[in-house]
Amino acid sequence: MSDRLSTHPFVGNDRVDDDHLGEECGVFGIIGDAEAAAHTSLGLHALQHRGQEAAGIVSFDGVQFHSHRGMGHVSENFASEAVMDRLKGNMAIGHTRYATTGETILRNVQPLFAELDTGGFSIAHNGNLTNALTLRNELKRRGCLFQSTSDTEVVIHLMAISEETTFEDRLIDALRQIEGAYSFVGLMNGALIGARDPLGVRPLVLGKSGNSHVLASETCALDIIGAEYVRDVDAGEVVIITHEGVRSLKPFPKQHPRFCIFEYIYFARPDSVAEGHSVYDVRKKIGAQLAAESAVDCDVVVPVPDSGVPAALGYAAAARVPFEYGIIRNHYVGRTFIQPTDKTRNLGVKRKHNPNRDVLEGKRVVLVDDSIVRGTTSKKIVEMVRQAGATEVHMRISSPPTAHPCFFGIDTPDYDKLLAHQYDVPAMAKLLGVDSLAFISIDGLYKALGEAKRDMGHPQFCDACFTGDYPLPLTDRNAGTQPKQLSLLTERV
Ligand code: AMP
Repeated sequence: MSDRLSTHPFVGNDRVDDDHLGEECGVFGIIGDAEAAAHTSLGLHALQHRGQEAAGIVSFDGVQFHSHRGMGHVSENFASEAVMDRLKGNMAIGHTRYATTGETILRNVQPLFAELDTGGFSIAHNGNLTNALTLRNELKRRGCLFQSTSDTEVVIHLMAISEETTFEDRLIDALRQIEGAYSFVGLMNGALIGARDPLGVRPLVLGKSGNSHVLASETCALDIIGAEYVRDVDAGEVVIITHEGVRSLKPFPKQHPRFCIFEYIYFARPDSVAEGHSVYDVRKKIGAQLAAESAVDCDVVVPVPDSGVPAALGYAAAARVPFEYGIIRNHYVGRTFIQPTDKTRNLGVKRKHNPNRDVLEGKRVVLVDDSIVRGTTSKKIVEMVRQAGATEVHMRISSPPTAHPCFFGIDTPDYDKLLAHQYDVPAMAKLLGVDSLAFISIDGLYKALGEAKRDMGHPQFCDACFTGDYPLPLTDRNAGTQPKQLSLLTERV
């Protein structure tokens, strides 16, 4: 790989207005593939659950970078032949985006692109940099002109002003200065780049298809293009992939990895394999453990679809109670929480779920869901199930109470909106209108993952949303530079 590149022009559709700081997203990258952009759009389609607000692809054809970015789903942006024809080249990266701030005007959809001293460089990011605002203020003082409010842009400026000479050294120099959770994919002339934060909080996997190499947030994005899974990119690893192959750099001191436990509970797709565990299998085991901890006499186990399904299957099998689809989900609406205000969010739940009366009428029902955040979904669902004639409603949750916000790339509201931060379990049960409510214990969760208890030595996961044990510094928050955690789960009026 050359470390001194000529200037490469950038050809793209108009920049889209955006105004956000952190993201909960999916990333994909491919090199050595004649249909790089088409396969990237398929990969992003498989990662659509990780971000539905915007999508973007940047490709490189050996001379020029090409870009197309837009608001909305992958299929809305990459269905046209004209768009795909423009995204030339045998290497590309892509991004599905789910902004975690609530501003209304949007200014930048990833991948971002910049012309550096070392040549053109495009980058896409899943995660959240917890010192981005501190660095940004410092960079602005030094004269950097920011084009967006994205934390990802900080990395580009750090690379641009680095004293190092080679692209690689500049990248590592930048990574050493950022804090937080990140999985990056990057594209430069002749190389696809992947980087994962030193604790490996956010996922990134490496795959192969014929002569092409692939990077993706989840293995389901490899499956869709027929690529085989090679391995997870290690915590703290930087991979530089050229037509010659994959080169691995380990620029950080080794630490115990802390993969995000919430990826297993809710965020990843169940058909993905993360860090060696099948997400589906883990969810079923969590359900079985939940039954072992808090089974209750009932006639039927009903999942809150879709995310509660595998845990409900595990619960029903372990408790030897019939599993039934007592709530039917309409798949033609977006995720409920994407609705911006409480009023429309409530409407969203009604649009999305309908009770299957025959299954519920006259029954003692155990409802299984993956998590309670604000409690909006649960309250509506419980009401719906009672109206459909259930005689008892017991709620079982396949995560411990979400009592702390995530600052590492999962979209959760701040403390004041988290039900479990404000109320204990009996008070929550009362608010939700259930006959009983139980959450899996933190030790039970670790047990379902086949790991030692979290208090034996070091915890193997980032479980801060349940424990408040943040494994990374919260520099911006502690300095008071970060605005209150903004979220799609909070109102945007
Ligand atoms: P709430 O209605 O605010 O309690 O949201 C809980 C529901 O949203 C659960 O059914 C989850 O499946 C889903 N959920 C949990 N965490 C998140 C998140 N970070 N982003 C979006 N949805 C979530």
